[in-house]
Amino acid sequence: MTDAETVDSTRRAPRGIFWLWHPPLPLKGVPVFIWPPQPLEALRFLLSRGFLWGMLVPFGALAVVSWVYLQPALERCAEFRLDWISQVYLRNLGLMVLVAGGLHLYLYTFKRQGSDGKMNPREPTASGRTFFAGNQVWDNMFWSCASGVTLWTAYEVGFLWAYANGLLPVYLDWTQHPVWFGLTFLAIPFWSSVHFYFVHRLLHWKPLYKLAHAVHHRNESTGPWSGFSMHPIEHLVFLSSVLIHLVVASHPIHILFHNQFNALQSATGHAGFDSLRVKGKPVMWLTPFHHQLHHRHFNCNYGNELMPCDRWFGTDYDGTHQSWAALVKRRLARRAGSRRS
Ligand SMILES: [Zn+2]
Ligand SMILES: [Zn+2]
Repeated sequence: MTDAETVDSTRRAPRGIFWLWHPPLPLKGVPVFIWPPQPLEALRFLLSRGFLWGMLVPFGALAVVSWVYLQPALERCAEFRLDWISQVYLRNLGLMVLVAGGLHLYLYTFKRQGSDGKMNPREPTASGRTFFAGNQVWDNMFWSCASGVTLWTAYEVGFLWAYANGLLPVYLDWTQHPVWFGLTFLAIPFWSSVHFYFVHRLLHWKPLYKLAHAVHHRNESTGPWSGFSMHPIEHLVFLSSVLIHLVVASHPIHILFHNQFNALQSATGHAGFDSLRVKGKPVMWLTPFHHQLHHRHFNCNYGNELMPCDRWFGTDYDGTHQSWAALVKRRLARRAGSRRS
């Protein structure tokens, strides 16, 4: 597999003074799947404001509300019909506009929190010929809604149709298996993180990068609309983590949660601010610096911090010069090795 970045930029040390703000370095990662195990630290993370109250509870509540109030009855989904499919599409479009559009207005149009927690000094509102309609925001909205929401809906429609026709192995009833039902919510972000690492590395394979992933990487400075701004091929592989429910006993709520988590969290995760602050106080974590480093330097941090895949596979960059030097050394050794073989 060939990385997309040129030799020149892989050898260049990262610029020292680039960020308006960044968390304390080195980045520590998430203490759940680490060795040796730190059970107390892991528990503290799982119950933290960033994970439990910033991810699991809001996305879990949204999935339940979607299922109870915004979902066509499952019996209607037994046949592919435009009425219920358009209902699902409009629901997903509404959620994307609400989250990405709401954050964009709050953070960039009305600048309600100024530059508190803003990482990249540049605004994600560039103009130029690389962007559709010459405007980064319109371009990002186009890819997010026309391709992203459509393929998100397509995965959901496929699962709803399969559930309605009894084609999936197990319909997990929460009254009979409440623990398994709850644990599935907990497992989805971790599974999605592993899946993201591997498909993201694949997307950095030069032909695929040029064909698809370059669309996402035109956003050197990211905003809420950048996260889900991808080429359809990337949407297809990125969202495919939901296919795990073909073999794992699940409820349709898990499908909604899984897709909403992937799609909407890419909007929050690219917002460009560490947290959403109201009157100066953080109310929800937004963008991990780990992925901002990926947008800045390309060949590092392919995963997210929930799973330490980057550490396991030698692609982690924790923001320090030592870490960058070690990363470049490993990369050059790998290239020398592949030239010899
Ligand atoms: Zn990204
Ligand atoms: Zn990438």
